[in-house]
Amino acid sequence: MSAPFRSCEILTVGTELLMGQIVNTNAAYLARRLAELGIPAYWQTVVGDNPDRLDAAIRTAVARSGCVLLTGGLGPTADDITMAGAARAAGVPLVLHEESLKAIGGYFSSMHRPMTANNRKQALMPEGGIVMPNACGTAPGCIVELPDSPAGPAALLLFPGPPKEMTAMFEASGAPYLAARAPFRLRSTYVRMIGIGESAAESRLADLVERQENPTIAPYCSDGEVMFRITQRVSSDADPDLVPPLLDEVRARLGEYIYETGPRAMHEVVVALALEKGRTVAFAESCTAGLTAATFASVPGASGALRGGVVAYADDVKRSLLDVPPEILERHGAVSAECAEAMALGARRRFGSDFAVAVTGIAGPGGGTAEKPVGLVHLAVAGPGGVEKRELRLRGTRERIRQVAALNALDLLRRSLLP
Ligand code: ATP
Ligand code: MG
Repeated sequence: MSAPFRSCEILTVGTELLMGQIVNTNAAYLARRLAELGIPAYWQTVVGDNPDRLDAAIRTAVARSGCVLLTGGLGPTADDITMAGAARAAGVPLVLHEESLKAIGGYFSSMHRPMTANNRKQALMPEGGIVMPNACGTAPGCIVELPDSPAGPAALLLFPGPPKEMTAMFEASGAPYLAARAPFRLRSTYVRMIGIGESAAESRLADLVERQENPTIAPYCSDGEVMFRITQRVSSDADPDLVPPLLDEVRARLGEYIYETGPRAMHEVVVALALEKGRTVAFAESCTAGLTAATFASVPGASGALRGGVVAYADDVKRSLLDVPPEILERHGAVSAECAEAMALGARRRFGSDFAVAVTGIAGPGGGTAEKPVGLVHLAVAGPGGVEKRELRLRGTRERIRQVAALNALDLLRRSLLP
């Protein structure tokens, strides 16, 4: 096991990135992978194809982080300067790497294309560098280890710019190199809740979030639901699992809203529950127009629980296909708790299912009134024990309102399925 890196930062090279001509997906990919590897990353830099600025960026990054992941500028043309920049920062010459030259030659002959003189340039590496082969292109990557920097053990990892080449090389060569030098690993778990707002949930967990002890708990971005990530830093497998006690504390405070303490999304949880209980489900949807049923059916095996569904927009369709009584539509309107209940009861009867989920609402942007604004959604689930209802007042785009309505409809079904 090599000495761990204290932290790692990402330096993407390319004038196209600076000018906004391409989106920096390489940085996003590497940042995600560093997080998964448990290597702290506190900085990201973008620098153009300019030798002096690249040199300054490398030196700054090495000084404050130690390990630096670079992408871009490994190609054959004059503006591809990253290898030279790394050699300059390491204080070593560029030397020809014979094996890489052979590999590049082989690549061109396999493509039946002549190799040009400037392709030789791609076989130049900082002296002493560790080659990372390129399975998807010509330019090999390279790891240049540096004498200890102020930030401890240091290295430059150079990857090509094209995302396919970069990700393949990172997975084959970069990730194993980094994993062996990660200061610790992360054990993460997610707590997913619904039916409570993000700020309300956060304020109930504020002392735990602010504590910043191992394990940490922090809000995690999500839409229509509230998610927290619990992360424990572990240095060896022998470390005790500290997540369960924190999870118990979170459950004690917010248990009624928690639907999952693991990786599964709402639709996966609800399908598993229906299958486990041997219950069948049908859907009657206005507003979401089948989105709830489609989300349910996206889970493999859902057909074991799904009887069917109907999209009922027009009032006469609600009457004829779901037996919604005309008086309810006249007196309360299609977007009402009464109509949702009637739709659920009608669907349950028509489909012969154990449970039926109904959605009716105003997705907008038009169609709202003072009494029934855009974002008003009524949900109902009819089951053997009666009808459960929920009213939502959502904000956002039409798309978001429909998504969150479907999510809540599945949650109402989940609650109805519970003992
Ligand atoms: P090439 O041999 O293709 O020149 P290179 O290693 O020199 O590869 P660049 O010239 O910097 O890499 O970039 C080549 C292409 O790769 C860019 O035009 C762009 O499409 C893509 N690319 C480069 N950097 C990034 C990045 N950070 N995020 C996403 N795509 C990128
Ligand atoms: Mg290039």
